[in-house]
Amino acid sequence: MPRRQVIVDGLPTLRQVRDPIIELDCRLCRRRGNHERKRLVKVFGAGVTLAELRRRMTVGCERMHTAEGDRCGAYFPCLVESVSSPDEG
Ligand SMILES: [Zn+2]
Repeated sequence: MPRRQVIVDGLPTLRQVRDPIIELDCRLCRRRGNHERKRLVKVFGAGVTLAELRRRMTVGCERMHTAEGDRCGAYFPCLVESVSSPDEG
């Protein structure tokens, strides 16, 4: 039976992500990258949440810091696949 993940800040920590490659995709600024999990753990630590990682990885995205706040569309496709959102769209 699948182990239930503890969700912090809406997203799991690096420790809870099992994919060797973590992909980050921003549909607004067309930023797309594949990041090695073990490298991320080394740099940010295993306890960092993906929400925090998202902020770190989108440094340089103009939409991240607007007058209205965070308007960047960056997300982790690997999470979207495993966690289905009922109010998508
Ligand atoms: Zn962006």
